[in-house]
Amino acid sequence: MGAKRKVCLTGPMRIKLAEEILRGAGCELVLGKPQDDFRTFRYERKELVNLIGDCPIVYPSGRDVITGEILDSCPDLQAVVKSSIGIETVDVDAATDLGILCCNSPTVENYMGVAEATMGLIVALFKRLKLNETYIRNNGWKELENRGTLMLGKTVGIIGVGRIGQNVAKRLGAWGMKVIGYDPYVKPETVASLGVRMVSLEELLQQSDLVTLHVVLTRETRGMLGMREFKMMKPTAFLVNTSRGQAIKEAELVQALNEKIITAAALDVFEQEPLPMDNPLRQVDPLRLILTPHNIGANPGSAEAGQKMAAESMLAILDGKIPDTVVNPLAIPRWKERFWS
Ligand code: NAD
Repeated sequence: MGAKRKVCLTGPMRIKLAEEILRGAGCELVLGKPQDDFRTFRYERKELVNLIGDCPIVYPSGRDVITGEILDSCPDLQAVVKSSIGIETVDVDAATDLGILCCNSPTVENYMGVAEATMGLIVALFKRLKLNETYIRNNGWKELENRGTLMLGKTVGIIGVGRIGQNVAKRLGAWGMKVIGYDPYVKPETVASLGVRMVSLEELLQQSDLVTLHVVLTRETRGMLGMREFKMMKPTAFLVNTSRGQAIKEAELVQALNEKIITAAALDVFEQEPLPMDNPLRQVDPLRLILTPHNIGANPGSAEAGQKMAAESMLAILDGKIPDTVVNPLAIPRWKERFWS
């Protein structure tokens, strides 16, 4: 058996590079509602199943959740390919059982963009950038209590020491900071050369002057930081999250900031996106919380790079090849048996 050269894009994006590459390679495209509709529009399960139809590949937008039920209802579906790094909107376990490949697109532009942006947030927090900027705009001047912290020799704890975590570690090391890490899936010797000392989560929370989160969102990492963990942190500590909003119990973070259990935080990602107008995070003292709209790591070229990598993965799969971007290699034997034997 082979594969029809047909791809479903559930939410075509403003940047059309993936569409151009796929069309150029002779693919028929099935286009859903533009992803720009994501504030107001959600597909029903049946609508998504009908849209995917007999396409062997679906390229879901950030808005569209691909559940096990949807995967099970699309007998021709061979692969789900995302142009992002995070793939938690796809039921990867169900896909693996069904022999459906799942691919992400970890481009340099994306992960370096986030690592650089995280550095910006870390510096902004240590140096009280937002606080002092607000003071001067409100006719204030320098106040002793608004001084920043010397970063040299301070300890940063990295939770999730993968691509982004490691690149943040490299940069922090160059600034003379101590870096400790927690990641049950990374061997201490892998990151020792970056100056990262791997510790338990508890030790990391207790010792860090700033904690930065770089985990993938899984059953284990969902809600991994809440009030219990914030109470283990130093009251002077800062928190940065550029990974996924659901890794933090957001309501408990609001409480921890309001009750000064930790000093300040910077968030690029949220439990619900776009951040609703009535989200309590918006009521937290803005001098203690930096908010960015899940774009701090984006740069001209990052979306294009993701789309190009995704298109290349799709074309490989349509030719019966396995791209390096497969995140569920356990699906491969069943995929071969179902679609290519
Ligand atoms: P990665 O897969 O290279 O690294 C993630 C790390 O998390 C891995 O090393 C993994 O072992 C670790 N991990 C898994 N379970 C863990 C646990 N229970 N405790 C601690 N660590 C655990 O991914 P990456 O490319 O470094 O991306 C990291 C995160 O950043 C992802 O959530 C991704 O979705 C997110 N991201 C956000 C943006 C943005 O725009 N803000 C852009 C790109 C990626």
